[in-house]
Amino acid sequence: MLKDTAKAAWEYGRQFLMKGKVADYIPELGKANPVHLGLCIKTPEGETIEFGDVEQRFTMQSISKVVCLATALQHEGFDTVFSHVMMEPSGDAFNSILKLDTASNRPFNPMINAGAIEIVNLLAPTFSFEQLLDFVRAICMDDEITLDEAVYHSEAATGDRNRAIGYLLKSKDVLTGDVLQTVDLYFKLCSLSVNARSLAGLGLILANGGVDPRNGIRLLSAQTVRTVKTLMFTCGMYDRSGEFAVRVGIPCKSGVGGGIMASVEHQMGIGTFGPSLDEKGNSIGGGSTLEYLSRELHLHIFDSEPQ
Ligand code: GLU
Repeated sequence: MLKDTAKAAWEYGRQFLMKGKVADYIPELGKANPVHLGLCIKTPEGETIEFGDVEQRFTMQSISKVVCLATALQHEGFDTVFSHVMMEPSGDAFNSILKLDTASNRPFNPMINAGAIEIVNLLAPTFSFEQLLDFVRAICMDDEITLDEAVYHSEAATGDRNRAIGYLLKSKDVLTGDVLQTVDLYFKLCSLSVNARSLAGLGLILANGGVDPRNGIRLLSAQTVRTVKTLMFTCGMYDRSGEFAVRVGIPCKSGVGGGIMASVEHQMGIGTFGPSLDEKGNSIGGGSTLEYLSRELHLHIFDSEPQ
């Protein structure tokens, strides 16, 4: 049943691929194949269901913001984290600088670039890139995650807007570390190479309250997971988060590499990969696949239909 619905959802999602466009503001991302679409579902019982391009590697991009936030909450604590960033949807593009210089000194939330750069600034004194990579591997249940050097160099070569955000934060004494080093670590975390399976693994651990269901090991506290999923729900899909919450109703986070990671409370982690993006930066095939799945399986958190 789940398998049939997943297949139908993937087939549904494929119809929309040509309506979008791959990201090319990071030149290396422009090489992605827009007709790729992969869907992977993992359940706490150990079932994996997958269709399409699930082995294809791509960079995590903004989905790394979820892991950075979770790590910061675990190690710095809730109050410190939210003295550096707010928890409000910005309604602006992910790389916007606008509200940072008008509405508030603190970035609006940790899911936009300004917020994530500030979170990386909190992590940088404590964690090396290698330590963070090890944690990403554990929480995505994927030991093969590596740095995609080509994307990293491409992003570093074209990332002046993110450096500008870093300097603006520094000018307000919000960012206290070295701007170039902080933004460089942010670029590396965005350039980790995952696939739809890794994202399903991350979604599953979040759906399972922070515990790896394979071995019972707790990777994140219940409080951290609750906070992270709430911010995914309200801010995870760029400035389409409100519409996505209404139509799909599952905490999700997307990245401009074409991934979407979704977490269905107690039930499943879902990873999709489709680099053809809508105008806000969300995978068009992945988003439609999730909308279909949510409708057919009543996965919306406010769905009152019986399963
Ligand atoms: N590395 C990308 C940037 O900073 C992340 C964008 C995204 O996936 O939203 O522009």
